[in-house]
Amino acid sequence: MTTSLKNRVVVVTGGSKGIGQGIAQVFADAGAKVAILARNADQAQATAAEIGHGAIGLAGDVTSAASLKAGYAEVAERLGNIDVLCANAGIFPPAKLEDMTEAQWDEVANTNLKGTFLSVQAAIPYLKSSDQGRIVITSSITGPVTGIPGLTHYGASKAGQLGFMRTACLELARYGITVNAVMPGNIITEGFLSMGPAYQASMLASVPLKRLGTVADIGHAALYFASKEAAYVTGQTIIVDGGQILPESLDALSED
Ligand code: NAP
Repeated sequence: MTTSLKNRVVVVTGGSKGIGQGIAQVFADAGAKVAILARNADQAQATAAEIGHGAIGLAGDVTSAASLKAGYAEVAERLGNIDVLCANAGIFPPAKLEDMTEAQWDEVANTNLKGTFLSVQAAIPYLKSSDQGRIVITSSITGPVTGIPGLTHYGASKAGQLGFMRTACLELARYGITVNAVMPGNIITEGFLSMGPAYQASMLASVPLKRLGTVADIGHAALYFASKEAAYVTGQTIIVDGGQILPESLDALSED
């Protein structure tokens, strides 16, 4: 495992649960000083205590520039200048296209896409001052590669994050800041479990490696992008999905 995250300051948005918690744990285990931001500060603090290694949890809402600015300032004061931003916070409440309200669309777009923009923009002054400035976005296979009924708004937001990344990495290259994205498949988290047992079973049946992903699977991919060793990698994606996007037919998933 890389040692280049030792004592680096890492912010993980949406780090109080699920994939964000997994990312935070992997970075903390690698010696990073980790700060978790989520709307529910109590939950963020409880998760930080669980993670250990001096991790801290604080209130932060990615839909609010002011909240992010205050959150990052507190992180810098308590842990030091921010080296790595993991822009991970996201939501996926399903709604069928024919019934979707503008409010439902806006909630998802504001959290997942505008939230990525705001999280990244507020971090730039800190990352510019780092010699290992890194941004790792949590996108998805859903949208950029695949589709799921009920998730048009979500798919659009996740594909949008990659479009954002491909220009952000160009603008930030002059500062040595890299911007990359992890594209998870189906990962066991509270959000995933909230989609219900039928959804979980059908997803499991679609994975060639015959298991759902763990949050650590995503954390390790994020750790690579944040490492010193990945200094020459920017604007790139990695799919971590157990092979789910590949089968052209059900034959590929049969036991024979
Ligand atoms: P989750 O278990 O529901 O956790 C979501 C986290 O985001 C929580 O910490 C939540 O805390 C935080 N959050 C939500 N809205 C926020 C906001 N406005 N500001 C700050 N934090 C906010 O979700 P997950 O499954 O881990 O998903 C995390 C990311 O992975 C998302 O971007 C999602 O699109 C992506 N992803 C997940 C899967 C999967 O299978 N699970 C697959 C592909 C991609 P608060 O509610 O306290 O704010």
